[in-house]
Amino acid sequence: MPELSIVVPMYNEIENVDLLCRRLVEVLPGLGRSYEIILVDDGSSDGTWERARELTREVDHLRVIRLRRNFGQTAAMSAGFHHARGAVIITMDADLQNDPEDIPLLLKRMEETGADVVSGWRRERKDPFFSRRLPSILANMLISRITGVYLHDYGCTLKAYRREVIADVHLYGEMHRFIPALANWVGGSVDEVVVGHHPRRFGKSKYGLSRTLRVILDLITVKFLLHYSRGPMQMFGKLGALFGVPGLLLIVFMVAANGSYLLFGTHLGAGLIKRPFWVMTSFMLIFFGMQFISIGLLAEVQIRTYHESQGKPIYVVREIVESAESAERAGG
Ligand code: UDP
Ligand code: MG
Repeated sequence: MPELSIVVPMYNEIENVDLLCRRLVEVLPGLGRSYEIILVDDGSSDGTWERARELTREVDHLRVIRLRRNFGQTAAMSAGFHHARGAVIITMDADLQNDPEDIPLLLKRMEETGADVVSGWRRERKDPFFSRRLPSILANMLISRITGVYLHDYGCTLKAYRREVIADVHLYGEMHRFIPALANWVGGSVDEVVVGHHPRRFGKSKYGLSRTLRVILDLITVKFLLHYSRGPMQMFGKLGALFGVPGLLLIVFMVAANGSYLLFGTHLGAGLIKRPFWVMTSFMLIFFGMQFISIGLLAEVQIRTYHESQGKPIYVVREIVESAESAERAGG
C-alpha cells in the first residue's frame, strides 16, 4: 500500500496532463514516501483519456480511471477516493493552477498539527476578481459561519486528507468543497496553509458565475445535514409552532371577542378586527403549522430509513482499544 495518493479529476485537460505528470514526478519521489498518482478522466472528449493511458507506460505509480461520461468534479474526486489506497490522500486540479511543489507543505503541516484535513489557501489567487474572487470571498465567509469550520479558501482543490476521515464522508452533488466541514462533523480536525496559485495556461475553466448559486444551494443542504439530520422534527416542529401557535391564539381571541358580544353585548376589540380577514389568516397559519409538522414527521421517518436500511450508526468510532484477554474472548 502506498503512503500517499494524489487524486486529480480531469475533464478535457489534454494540454495539461503531460505537464502535470511531469511536475508531479519531479516532486513526489523526493518526499521519501511511497506514492501513487490517480488521474480520474471525467468523460473527456478531447483525447485526455488516450493521452493519460499512454502515460501509464512512461510514468511510474500512475493509475488512470476513466468514468463512462462526464459526472462532474465531485463525482470524479469521489471515484478517485474510492480507488485511492494511500494513508493520506491529496487532491489537486489538473490545470496546474495549483503547484505540485506545495504538496510537501500540506504534509508538513499535517504532521506538525496532527490535523486530519489540511486545506490549501490561495492567498494570492490569480483569477478574475468580479466573477471569481469576490463571490469566493463572500462564499467562504458564509460557509465558515454556517458550518462553524473557519477556512479562508473552501474552493481550493489542493487539500490533504487522512484516509479515515474521507472514508466516513459521503459526497453528493457539488459537495467536494465542503469536505472539511463534513470531515469536521465526523470528528476530524481541520487546518489550512498558504499555497501558491497561477492563472490557467492551457484549456478552459469549466465553471462560471452560476457556480455561486449552486454552492449556496449546497450549503443549505450541508447546514441541514450537519445540524438537523439527527432530529428534523426539531427544526420543522419549531417552524410549525411559529405559524400554528399565532393561528390558534387568533382563534381563541376571536372566540373570546364573540363570546363577549353574546354575554355582555359589547364587541371586544370590535374596531380592531375585520373578522373574515382574521378568520382566514388564523386558518392559514394553522394550516402552515400543520404542514411543517407533517414534513417534520416525514423527515423523521426518512432519517430512520436512512440509518437503518444502510446499517449506518448515528455515531462514528475513532478507534477501540482492549486488553488482550478481552480480544481473545471476542475472537472465540
Ligand atoms: N473537472 C472535472 N469534471 C468537470 C469539471 C471540472 O473533473 O465536470 C476538473 C477539471 O478538469 C479541473 C478541476 O476539475 O482539473 C477544476 O476545474 P476548473 O479548473 O475548470 O475550475 P476552476 O479552477 O476554474 O475553478
Ligand atoms: Mg482551475
